[in-house]
Amino acid sequence: MSDSYVIPALPVPSLPVTGTRARFPVRRIWCVGRNYLEHIRELGNDERQPPFFFAKHADMIAQDGATVPYPSLTKDFQHEVEMVVALRSGGTNITPDQALGHVYGYGVAIDLTRRDLQTASRKKEQPWEIGKSFDLSAPCGALKPAAEIGHPAKGRIWLSVNGTQRQNGDLAEMIWNTAEIISRLSLQVSVGAGDIIMTGTPAGVAALAPGDRIECGIDGVGTLKVQIGPLVD
Ligand code: MN
Repeated sequence: MSDSYVIPALPVPSLPVTGTRARFPVRRIWCVGRNYLEHIRELGNDERQPPFFFAKHADMIAQDGATVPYPSLTKDFQHEVEMVVALRSGGTNITPDQALGHVYGYGVAIDLTRRDLQTASRKKEQPWEIGKSFDLSAPCGALKPAAEIGHPAKGRIWLSVNGTQRQNGDLAEMIWNTAEIISRLSLQVSVGAGDIIMTGTPAGVAALAPGDRIECGIDGVGTLKVQIGPLVD
């Protein structure tokens, strides 16, 4: 075994934690698709199908206050505000009643989406990466430890653009709750410390433009601000 790398070792993506200078290291980003009924309806999807998972890469995180360039290839770049759950431990085949014991804390995130590309790839039965998984597609705010706030199961989740409210829902509307999400994901992969899961978005997703100022939050969890920059070239 060598103890060196042929290129410099890469930094570990991380998130701030409210109340401490220590940061939360991020291993994987999982996202739940279609976890709020009103959002399934607004996109015209089948409301009888259960939610499911897709992924973004950890280095696609954008920090609170960041400017995210308008991404390439899209003409329909959309916001999806979501609660993010951060794991301190994990495993496989975790039962719902064990699941919350693996949670470190919670935060606010935006699942930025190139909706036109996502829709096109779905129609062609191709994977979703082009629509969902791109640079800075995962803005995340500071985490709040579950030791301080418990496990939020209800509370307003909202997003505004340039001061106008676009999304407004409640965590209680989630089809799979946090415990069920962790349990389900652990059937599919081994989940572990450092994993964060975006838990789905309520209704009101809409298009963004360069210069837009996004503000979003979840009652009792936190807030997040992002600005959209000029088109990336
Ligand atoms: Mn989403």
